[in-house]
Amino acid sequence: MKAVQYREVGAAPEVVEVPVPAPGPGEVLLKVTAAGVCHSDIAVMSWSKEQLGFPLPLTLGHEGVGTVAALGDGVATVEIGDDVAVYGPWGCGNCAKCAEGKENLCLRADELGIFPPGLGAPGAMAEYMIVDSPRHLTPLRGLDPVKTVPLTDAGLTPYHAIKRSLPKLTPGSTAVVIGTGGLGHVAIQLLRALSSARVVALDVSEDKLDLAREVGAHEALLSDKDSADKVRRLTGGLGAAAVFDFVGAPPTVKTAGACAAAEGDVTIVGIGGGTLAVGFGVTPYETSVTAPYWGSRSELGEVLDLAHSGVVDVQVETYGIDEAPKAYERLHDGKIRGRAVILP
Ligand code: NAD
Ligand code: ZN
Ligand code: ZN
Repeated sequence: MKAVQYREVGAAPEVVEVPVPAPGPGEVLLKVTAAGVCHSDIAVMSWSKEQLGFPLPLTLGHEGVGTVAALGDGVATVEIGDDVAVYGPWGCGNCAKCAEGKENLCLRADELGIFPPGLGAPGAMAEYMIVDSPRHLTPLRGLDPVKTVPLTDAGLTPYHAIKRSLPKLTPGSTAVVIGTGGLGHVAIQLLRALSSARVVALDVSEDKLDLAREVGAHEALLSDKDSADKVRRLTGGLGAAAVFDFVGAPPTVKTAGACAAAEGDVTIVGIGGGTLAVGFGVTPYETSVTAPYWGSRSELGEVLDLAHSGVVDVQVETYGIDEAPKAYERLHDGKIRGRAVILP
């Protein structure tokens, strides 16, 4: 079968032929119907061998949906032919965090060498993929696979981030979304669906700002060194009750800290290497800062429920498996509108 692999540190991803895997006991084989292309893959492909922490080659793709094609021994909770979405942040299933469904925060994943598909384990950018447990499968219940696949990360990650701040997003409040790409354009829709906050989007590209307005941002502004002042002016000096930074680079993290309201939330989702100095008189009074990771199993179910109710519509560009390297190039160059999805 064809697979999109990252084979050598620093090299571009390649489409190669690999054997179709067979499911071991407890595992599920999926015929992949769609796989999403995330900016985190580009970050991973910029890391050194030591930073990677897992061997190459790696089949990419940590956003996957597919149809159950074969069951390993003992699997009884899904059936061949089921259409499912893959919950990606695999954990051990047994520790205190996993027991709550928060496998993204598994206490034993490092020790047990458990990696998410596409980020250490073979991922979804292939004709078939192995899922380690049916626990990591959420039924699609008729949702369109192509529009749904980004929800497993570009939906789940912003949902998890936003859910934490909902009590602060009261009527009259403002939420800021920095970076309106794959994750950010879903975040805007989630904020509009779940809160009555005014949504202000920041991006460096006019095309992305148009997309932000189209998906519901009340204001869309160019991101620059004056962004925090602009947000303060728009909010009568108050600042934003919650800021979600989907870039996480030094300048955006600085903006995020500077445009938060007193008692506001600053949530750094992007892994762009920025750090925020927090201290008395440095950040607004009683601001809380967090850097979340993906989301829980139950939250993926909630995101798919939102998709069922029609309040999120992911903008997608589709590519055949042979075009995956081109999709990564376009993502790197900031040219993807919404999310790129590979159809293996
Ligand atoms: P993307 O490339 O689709 O979107 C990034 C957007 O940021 C683009 O629209 C780009 O124009 C914009 N941008 C770049 N520089 C900017 C600046 N200075 N100011 C404002 N906007 C700017 O990327 P994505 O796939 O949506 O991922 C976003 C980030 O989130 C990446 O860093 C990714 O690695 C990270 N991520 C983190 C998690 C997590 O669990 N924490 C999960 C998924 C993705
Ligand atoms: Zn991702
Ligand atoms: Zn665990």
